[in-house]
Parts: sequence; C-alpha cells; structure tokens
Amino acid sequence: MVVGAGYTGLSAALHLAEAGRDVVVLESAEIGEGASGLNGGQVIAGVKHDPAVLEQLFEPALAVRLIATVGGAPQALYELVRRLQIDCALTTSGWIQPAGSPAALSVLRQRAADWAARGAPVRVLDAEAVERLTGSRIYCGGLFDARGGTVQPLAYARGLARAALRAGARIFARSPALRLEHAGSGYAVTTPGGAVRAEQVIVATNAYSGRLVPALRRSVVAVPSFQVASAPLSVELRRRILPGGQGASDTRRLLRYFRLDASGRFVLGTRGTYAKSPSLHAVQRHYRAVGEIFPELSGIGFDYHWGGLVAMTLDHLPHLHQLAPGLLAGLGYNGRGVAMATAMGRELALRALGAPAAELGFPVTAVKPVPLHAFSSVGVRATIQLLRLADAWTRRRVA
Ligand SMILES: Cc1cc2nc3c(=O)[nH]c(=O)nc-3n(C[C@H](O)[C@H](O)[C@H](O)COP(=O)(O)OP(=O)(O)OC[C@H]3O[C@@H](n4cnc5c(N)ncnc54)[C@H](O)[C@@H]3O)c2cc1C
Repeated sequence: MVVGAGYTGLSAALHLAEAGRDVVVLESAEIGEGASGLNGGQVIAGVKHDPAVLEQLFEPALAVRLIATVGGAPQALYELVRRLQIDCALTTSGWIQPAGSPAALSVLRQRAADWAARGAPVRVLDAEAVERLTGSRIYCGGLFDARGGTVQPLAYARGLARAALRAGARIFARSPALRLEHAGSGYAVTTPGGAVRAEQVIVATNAYSGRLVPALRRSVVAVPSFQVASAPLSVELRRRILPGGQGASDTRRLLRYFRLDASGRFVLGTRGTYAKSPSLHAVQRHYRAVGEIFPELSGIGFDYHWGGLVAMTLDHLPHLHQLAPGLLAGLGYNGRGVAMATAMGRELALRALGAPAAELGFPVTAVKPVPLHAFSSVGVRATIQLLRLADAWTRRRVA
C-alpha cells in the first residue's frame, strides 16, 4: 500500500504494479493535490550538494550510486514519460542557473567543473550567454545543465497515475489514511470508509505529512513557496524571453524560479507565506520580482497565483527511511522533487520488492527529528525575512 498520490507515491505504485504487485494508493485529497500538482515544473539534476561533497559525505560505493541516481534522475523521468506516453508538455532543452553575484558565479564555476569532470553536460555561461538564453540582463553569468527540462506538473502527476492504473494499481482519492497499526505480519491502515490491510506500506506524504507517522512530519520543515502566472506573452516577447524553453532558478538566497509554460505564460515562483491565500503585499512582491528580472514585463497582467509546501531537510538531502520491517518512507527533496521524487518512488519500489540497501540509489537512513520542530514555521518566517535582507544587500553591493 502507498499513502500519498504525488510523484513519490505514484512512481512507487507504478513500479510495484509493473513488477506484478497488488498495489492500493490512498490519497487524502485528489491526485497531485500536494506539491506534485503545484510546483514550478523544472526537471533538475542533482541535489544541493555537488558530487565532490557527496563523495566526502558517503562511503565510495554509496557515493557513486547516489551521484548516478541524482545526476540521472531527469533522464529517468524522460524515459518514463516517453515509454508511458504521458502528455505533460515535456521539454528537455536544459536548465539554467543564473548567478546574481560574482561570488555565486564562482560557486557555479566549481559546480560545472565538478559535474563536467564526471562527464555530465554542464557548463558555465557568461553574462551575454545568460542574456541570450533568458532575455534578462540582471545576471553576471550562470550555469547551463543540458540534463534539465520542464513538465506541466499536474499533467505529469495525472499521467503517472493513469499509467499506474493501467498497470493494475488501485488509487483511492479523498481517502485519508488516518491510523497505521501492526496487523499480523503487516499493517492495517484506517480510512473514513474502512480499513486496508497490506504486507508493506510506503508513506509518500512529504511536506504534507501529518499525524499518521509523527516522526516523519518532524523530520522535515515545510516551507511555503508560491507562484504567479502572467497572461500569455506576445510572440515578440516569447522570442526574447527564454526562447529555448528552459526553466531557470537563480542563485539568490530566496531563489526565484521561472519559465514559460506551453501557452506562453511567464510563471515565476519564490518563497511564499503560510496563509491559505497570500496577501496583496506578497503577490505584489512577486510582480515586482518579474519586473526586476524582465523590465519589459513590468505592468503585464497576471491571471493566476497559487502556492504549496516544499519539504526541506537539515542536511539538504532526500531521505529514504525504513521505519520498521515492511514500512518505508521517502521525502525531503528540498525543492527538487520533480525528478528526485520520481527516482525515489522507483527506489522505494525496489526496496519493497526486496532489494538490499547496498543496491539502492539513495542511502537508507534513520529518521531524525528537526530540533524545535514545533517552532519551525516561526523559524521559517524569520529566516525568510533575514534572507530577503541579505539578498537586498547583495543586490545593492553588486549594482
Ligand atoms: C510551489 C512549489 C514549487 C516547486 N517547484 C519545483 C520545481 O520547479 N522543480 C522541482 O524539482 N521541485 C519543485 N518543487 C518540489 C516538488 O514539487 C516536490 O518535491 C514533489 O512534488 C514531492 O512529491 P511527493 O509525491 O513526495 O509529495 P506531494 O506531491 O506533496 O504528495 C504528497 C501527497 O500525500 C497526501 N497525503 C498527506 N497525508 C496523507 C494521508 N494521511 N493520507 C493520504 N494522503 C496523504 C497529500 O494530499 C499529497 O497529495 C516545488 C514545490 C512547490 C510547493
């Protein structure tokens, strides 16, 4: 059984069903109603730590598997989309990380060299090249990662769900898992409509983890992020802004991520608020950000805004947990879950099918609570203010 119908849960269900297992997915809301249907759609290779750091953090054989998993996650997603014919406006023309300061650019130089030394198609861009690729003049250079791409996030989640159903999985929306208990050699999960028994349970609730497994909820900090989408841009603007169809996420401490969607809307996201509906002030800050990056978009009309929760971990790494025999969880993608959660779902399925830890692409780790977790939303609000000030300070120094 899988709890949660986002990329992690749906990818796990798909891989298990394709391996001939009887799979039930319980989703408290609708398919993709968590971060998987709400995100920026950027398919990004790697995690926050570059390969050389991962080699210091993990023993050699595990570091090799982890680097291959996180570096190969976009390609694995593209292969799934093509094999399963998922209609999700896939683009595979790369990902751009524009640098907001010379200090950030020197980090990107190292990052590019680190990945390139391992044969990955990653290179540094000068300011002119960033302007050519993005249309923005505010960056002093950047990084181009040819492994990246974009998807329409909800279409990708629904496509995974359809493929899992075709492979034999059963998905129950509006069916929250309320209680999880040992039952015989497996588990019983209670929902408002009845109980489901299963030999194995995969918990895939990420930033939306609630009381079902309290330790999981306490192992991540749920950080709000929200996006605005403009009216479709004119053909002339589309020729200048991201003409190659890449997604971009800049190097600010409160990073701004943006892309054009298939209908030519400019979509930009950055840290949001915990409020159900963002204040006018918060929305206007997003509009201002658009105008800062692309002055020609100042004053453009916006049609939509929406937000969701990102699961951050203290070590900036995704986690695959074996909570007990037959009880697995995967979460904590730190804003890179489109490719990473898809890969995690596959690895969770492999584990459930009996793969030893030594064959998995993510380390199997113990669940560690974030200290003072109950106060984390207060801490996140304070941190967002501090980072905002630090970004403004860097901008002033660079200008
Ligand atoms: C605004 C935003 C922008 C982002 N942009 C990007 C991006 O551009 N690129 C990128 O790589 N990543 C991005 N991310 C991160 C990415 O979206 C997530 O890492 C990824 O979607 C996580 O997938 P998931 O399946 O683990 O979790 P989710 O998609 O959040 O799914 C968890 C599901 O569990 C369900 N659930 C919770 N509790 C229960 C329960 N008790 N019973 C049943 N169901 C339950 C929830 O309803 C939810 O549907 C972004 C995230 C946000 C919020």
